[in-house]
Amino acid sequence: MNERADMVVIGGGPAGAAAAITAARSGARVIVVDQAEYGRDKICGDGLTPRAVAALGELNIGIEAAHRIEGLRMIAGSVQRELPWPSGGRFPSYGAVWPRKRLDAALIDVAGEAGADLRWSTPGTPRLNADNRVIGVSTPSGDIDAEVVVVATGAPGAVARLLGAGRVRDEPFGLAIRAYVESPRHSDRHLEACLTLKDRNGIAVPGYGWMFPAGDGTVNIGVGALSTMKNFKSLNLNTLLDDYRALVADSWEVGPFLERPRAWRLPMSTMRRSGPGWVAIGDAAGLVNPMNGEGIDYGLESGMLAAQLFIEDAASVSQRYDALIGERFDSFLRTGRRFAFLIGHPWILRPGLRVAVGTQAIANITLQVMGNLVDSDSPGASGRVLRAADWALGVADPVLRRTRAAA
Ligand SMILES: Cc1cc2nc3c(=O)[nH]c(=O)nc-3n(C[C@H](O)[C@H](O)[C@H](O)COP(=O)(O)OP(=O)(O)OC[C@H]3O[C@@H](n4cnc5c(N)ncnc54)[C@H](O)[C@@H]3O)c2cc1C
Repeated sequence: MNERADMVVIGGGPAGAAAAITAARSGARVIVVDQAEYGRDKICGDGLTPRAVAALGELNIGIEAAHRIEGLRMIAGSVQRELPWPSGGRFPSYGAVWPRKRLDAALIDVAGEAGADLRWSTPGTPRLNADNRVIGVSTPSGDIDAEVVVVATGAPGAVARLLGAGRVRDEPFGLAIRAYVESPRHSDRHLEACLTLKDRNGIAVPGYGWMFPAGDGTVNIGVGALSTMKNFKSLNLNTLLDDYRALVADSWEVGPFLERPRAWRLPMSTMRRSGPGWVAIGDAAGLVNPMNGEGIDYGLESGMLAAQLFIEDAASVSQRYDALIGERFDSFLRTGRRFAFLIGHPWILRPGLRVAVGTQAIANITLQVMGNLVDSDSPGASGRVLRAADWALGVADPVLRRTRAAA
């Protein structure tokens, strides 16, 4: 007879861990399978916005082990603005940098303490019955039956293909590369983002270069770009990172890369995020903010939501999850994807950036809108900007797609 669990989670990253913690704490029998070994690293910038810190707080996880961050230093050409995180709303006024090797281990350890059964070096594949309902997971050591399978496998791969949950072909996605360097400024309290990157052909890159200080002697350095960029297919992320490193070499007194830079995908759409017997969360559900590349928070939030709905009523989890995650994120993410098409045009990107960082007040709004930090209870000026952008981008969307800059 097959082994049996209430919930099987495929993937033990932040999304899978959040689902496992929430379900296991309520007494559900949860099994997490991950194909990697315990302590795996994830290619990431390691940056946590106040929204992500709030999500960790909901899981009762503090950020004492991380490096606390007070705001963002936004750089556009010769303009530099230090922006504190917004305060007084529903998110804390601080963020953090928490290297993923440590963050992910901390999260999955909490899942284990809550009672989840963690199985490393164990690839999982959803098992479907004749009605195309997911009824459990196959692993090399046997099959597990489950009431629900939570797909938390990160950027879509084999599992997503099996479930028809790949990315939507004509929607944008991101690619980013990161490394670590030593710097005397490793305990700086600001994330730094340079918004005016250019490739070696002088084409403006919709994306940014980052220096995210980890407080442990190292800084996470990286660059990311959106697929809406002209000549995206020929963009060489390694050269872009080398050029960015040269740009910050003096101000950060950086040493050589401590490891080979590594790149990975940022999924920003999905064909489906649930079906009979399964739900997808985090990157597997295309939940990455197109405006800043943030995905950890969306993984945590979607993981918690999926598990809460499962606890309430296992039979209807798929439909309710799809509706509620849509209510929470769809409008924002759709605006973000439209924004990605907009800034793919270099002739819009450059003047747009000048406006976005034009004054301290406008730059603060830019930070709140792009970071999805608008407080829905008291949206204020940034809420009005977001609503206006939503409307304007909706009107412009067909034209922006037709004239997309990407080759
Ligand atoms: C270069 C780069 C920089 C980034 N910077 C930031 C940042 O600063 N802040 C931020 O918030 N986000 C950032 N992101 C996005 C962020 O890394 C992701 O959104 C986040 O990791 C998503 O978490 P997840 O749990 O959904 O997936 P993942 O963290 O990718 O975890 C998926 C897990 O599933 C496992 N798995 C996959 N397939 C199987 C299978 N078949 N069976 C068993 N296990 C499987 C994998 O081993 C992995 O452990 C960045 C991304 C990139 C590429």
